[in-house]
Amino acid sequence: MTQRARTDYANWNETFMNLAICISKRSKDPNRQVGATIVNNNKIIGMGYNGFPNNCHDTVFPWCRINNENNENKYLYVVHAELNAILNSQNIPDGSILYTTLFPCNECCKAIIQKNIKTIYYLEIKEENDITEYAAKKMLDSANVKCIKLNVNTEINNKFDEEIVLCGDSIYINILFILFILCLILNFI
Ligand SMILES: [Zn+2]
Repeated sequence: MTQRARTDYANWNETFMNLAICISKRSKDPNRQVGATIVNNNKIIGMGYNGFPNNCHDTVFPWCRINNENNENKYLYVVHAELNAILNSQNIPDGSILYTTLFPCNECCKAIIQKNIKTIYYLEIKEENDITEYAAKKMLDSANVKCIKLNVNTEINNKFDEEIVLCGDSIYINILFILFILCLILNFI
């Protein structure tokens, strides 16, 4: 008897975001584990997670956010997942896609743009609305990098739904335009 092909197999977004989640589990950061995967033509170009540079050991460098005693903290030393993914890649073809579990900071955005990565899929954003988040979005928008949030579908574990486009994509503008038209219609009623 011929068996039929599975229909509930992982799509590409689910596959590469799950790989980003998987590599994030390598992080030794006790507070936040971030993973990133760079993809081109559905082939993995590179992966990374947040950690200290090579030969900078966790026994010497601090994972704390603030240490008032000696003014040491992890922010001085840690390499972010997105930058590590870029640095771990041999060659990143133009127009590659980045999957990251956390929306990239402004510093990683500079490297992402310089490598001509044109699409970012992310799972969550800090929503701190601070100057670094503002700078990151401003640069991505200016460089026409499409940013798409994936939502975890809670009914099926590790399945994702596309939700919104943050910047660099006309769909977002179209949604605003439709809302504008709806407001006009409601006013007429
Ligand atoms: Zn970063």
